[in-house]
Amino acid sequence: MPEVPDYQDILDHLYDGVYFVDRDRVITYWNQGAARISGYEADQVLGRSCRDGILNHVTANGVALCQHGCPLTATMEDGNPREADVFLHHSDGHRVPVLVRCAPLRDASGAIVGAVESFSADRGMRTARKELRALRQQIHTDALTEIGNRAYLDGRLRALVAEAAHHGTSDAAIALIDIDRFKSVNDTHGHDAGDRVLRMVANTLKASVRASDSLGRWGGEEFLVVFDGVSDDASVTAACEKLRHLVGWSRLDLGDGTSISVTLSLGATRLRVDDTPEEVVARADELMYRSKEGGRDRVTVG
Ligand code: GH3
Ligand code: MG
Ligand code: MG
Repeated sequence: MPEVPDYQDILDHLYDGVYFVDRDRVITYWNQGAARISGYEADQVLGRSCRDGILNHVTANGVALCQHGCPLTATMEDGNPREADVFLHHSDGHRVPVLVRCAPLRDASGAIVGAVESFSADRGMRTARKELRALRQQIHTDALTEIGNRAYLDGRLRALVAEAAHHGTSDAAIALIDIDRFKSVNDTHGHDAGDRVLRMVANTLKASVRASDSLGRWGGEEFLVVFDGVSDDASVTAACEKLRHLVGWSRLDLGDGTSISVTLSLGATRLRVDDTPEEVVARADELMYRSKEGGRDRVTVG
């Protein structure tokens, strides 16, 4: 015969808080999770009525549920399970955000003899995780253009180099992209117009690269793209020429009948397995300067 599990032991070790009340809302069971989340040990709450406001759930709107709308009472009345986002009272005095779930407890005849409430502190953790994701996103985003920033690109390059060294091969390439004569855009149209041009170029680049490529603002009027899955110089050239053409065909209308277009100089190179991030960027930079020297508005791959 299979061994009967010790339900009490399982309940005690659940991560969530769990407690039972009888029809008078007297607490008859209180697990360790409940003690950990609320700060109240079982001997402080067992035999007391949760009506006394030990946990004193309040909603985000400040409604005190013990007096107005206790979900346990409602569940015992209609037999329906329910859940609610509430803030419970911690023994240290502060409020803890929890998701509470209530279900009726029935005897063998089906009559409701009490209710069980579980509460999980995950709600706070879910929020924290969401905030962390947003923060990470923010740390890696350039404020002006909303594409990746230098820190993002540095991270991508480090990962790429580590991958290439690990696998002993790489099919990645990087392109350093510099806007031609950008100083004159600022001088002629003002810094704000210059900023709008930077956003326009960033948006066109973003629309032009593939989802598997990585794009960021390297600094000032320079961008960097990591191309994934390029196995020869011809495909690197083709990818760069696409960017050069699409940006060349972009145009910022200033609303006064004039508009601004810019051209790009690009230098691109495939990653070598023994490259450091600095080496591969220096090579692309050197090639980009050859594009400048050659007359700008061009791609140099090496
Ligand atoms: P080249 O073709 O040789 O690249 O000429 P350039 O004028 O683009 O190069 P230079 O390095 O002399 O000038 C870059 C300019 O970019 C100077 C700087 O004021 C401008 N710049 C850098 N960051 C920003 C920015 O965030 N906003 C604006 N509006 N301008 C910026
Ligand atoms: Mg520059
Ligand atoms: Mg420039």
